[in-house]
Amino acid sequence: MTASSPRAEVVIDLDAVRHNVSLLTSRASGAAVMAVVKADAYGHGAVPVARAAAEAGATWLGTCSLAEALALRAAGLTTRLFSWLDVPDVDFAPGIEADVDLGASSLVELRRIADAASRAGKRARVHLKIDTGLSRNGCPPAEWPALVEAAAASPEIDVVAVWSHLACADEPGHASIDSQAKRFTDAYDRARAAGLDPIRHLANSAALLTRPDLHFDLVRPGIATYGLNPVDTADDLRPVMTFRSAVVLTKRLPAGESVSYGQTWATPRDTTVALVPVGYADGVPRSLSGRMDVWVSGRRRPVVGRVCMDQLVVDCGDDAPAVGDEVVLFGAGDAGEPTAREWADKLGTIDYEIVTSMYRPRVRRRYV
Ligand code: PLP
Repeated sequence: MTASSPRAEVVIDLDAVRHNVSLLTSRASGAAVMAVVKADAYGHGAVPVARAAAEAGATWLGTCSLAEALALRAAGLTTRLFSWLDVPDVDFAPGIEADVDLGASSLVELRRIADAASRAGKRARVHLKIDTGLSRNGCPPAEWPALVEAAAASPEIDVVAVWSHLACADEPGHASIDSQAKRFTDAYDRARAAGLDPIRHLANSAALLTRPDLHFDLVRPGIATYGLNPVDTADDLRPVMTFRSAVVLTKRLPAGESVSYGQTWATPRDTTVALVPVGYADGVPRSLSGRMDVWVSGRRRPVVGRVCMDQLVVDCGDDAPAVGDEVVLFGAGDAGEPTAREWADKLGTIDYEIVTSMYRPRVRRRYV
């Protein structure tokens, strides 16, 4: 990073996306792969990630909101798109016109999609969602027969799929996985009995990697697309995001000198400290103060004192990093640098939250 560089950047390795998608495709038992690129591709940037995923064999892309899907179409992506959760007053017509498949969990939603299809002058492709035990969106089993019958009877609706989502796929062997799978199969059978011939999709990354019996026709990996493995299988997934900055100042401090707000840490000996121009405004949680490392000059060094809004201080001991030397806050971990998982473990969260929070105005995204 040079003096004119941004203070921090996330580097997004699109080759790693391609590698991960082709690995996931090879693990999918012949099922099609929908790369889940909602939430700006989990903080990695929806359009470049979607393009890379499509190049590597993802024949579907999944988003939460219709606006996210339409943004992909506007960027020129011709891949099959599926969006599944929106606000009640969203207008589905532009989605139908743009060939976006839509999720429906209730009769009300189905009617709104049918109305939009009439206005668009085109049948809507709909994936009916059964709630098999997550109790978020999805049609409760008791209301499912009415939903499938209404969908089957609607000339505006083309039922493409029956789908659901697992609550505990990242806990392989959890009893809920099989009970959800059973409800899923029952719902599918009911749809067939209503004269429909839908495909099925259920598996997220964790189920894709651990439950080949649940791959059905289509799998929906999100986090594994980004190289983060929720079930720690031996698969060679490559983390896509590296968060890096650079040393902007070094100084030698005598023993007993305190560092940063609150004077919570003092040098135990004469030491060299390095200043890094990233802080909690850039995605480094203040609650990691005193319990995080960074990778600088080819080794791990502790961040000392409090993480501030715009800067943090690293104890480099008797090393003397140069101004401009790279500082990796988290990355793939191959060389021993911290990872998003390491941050998540310390913060009591999941790496999903770490990477999706990395969309920050002062942090440049750079694609390689
Ligand atoms: N399918 C749905 C409906 C989701 O909401 C998500 C993410 O939360 C995914 C698939 C992808 O899940 P994961 O990132 O665990 O692979």
